[in-house]
Amino acid sequence: MVEADPARCATREGILLIADEIATGFGRTGKLFACEHANISADILCLGKALTGGTMTLSAAITTRDVAETISNGEAGCFMHGPTFMGNPLACAVAAESLAILESGEWQAQVAAIEQQLKRELAPAADSPQVADVRVLGAIGVIETRYPVNMALLQRFFVEQGVWIRPFGRLIYLMPPYLVSPQQLTRLTRAVCLAVEQETFFIL
Ligand SMILES: *Cc1c(COP(=O)(O)O)cnc(C)c1O
Repeated sequence: MVEADPARCATREGILLIADEIATGFGRTGKLFACEHANISADILCLGKALTGGTMTLSAAITTRDVAETISNGEAGCFMHGPTFMGNPLACAVAAESLAILESGEWQAQVAAIEQQLKRELAPAADSPQVADVRVLGAIGVIETRYPVNMALLQRFFVEQGVWIRPFGRLIYLMPPYLVSPQQLTRLTRAVCLAVEQETFFIL
């Protein structure tokens, strides 16, 4: 039998479900956590990046009480080590402040506005013969190209355009901060749209 719901299947089989929300957490996809799109809750939730608004290094693995107590009572013998700066007080203070800003809820309007602008300004790229797909979800804009990018040439082009964008294989993606201004975002989308028009930036 094919189980349509992998989360329920994992629960039934006693398998822990781990959700890596390091990139997607804290509103990035338009929901506070991407799990909400799938209507699932994980046993272990991995957090990083936007936990501190991307300003300081801090990560966390949030677990169900059952998992936490199993680890804490020491019998499982796992995770009996940690990095030197784990739970760094300064990073935690920054995270608390960033979470308080998120709790104000302003991110919802910011992410919705970024999503609309990304959709509008990246859509023309779909006409380029080098482009396979244009995808936008929340404050994430991705152009999937047909060919791998020539990183050496493309990186130089982006820097000349005054933007810092790091393509990834056949993906050119934007994940701007929520307080990006419309003008700043246009600068990013324009650079990407200009780039994908030029065959020389791709390894055909
Ligand atoms: C950045 C990232 C990681 C790595 O996180 P670190 O805190 O740098 O180790 C893992 N998973 C996803 C989805 C990421 O975006």
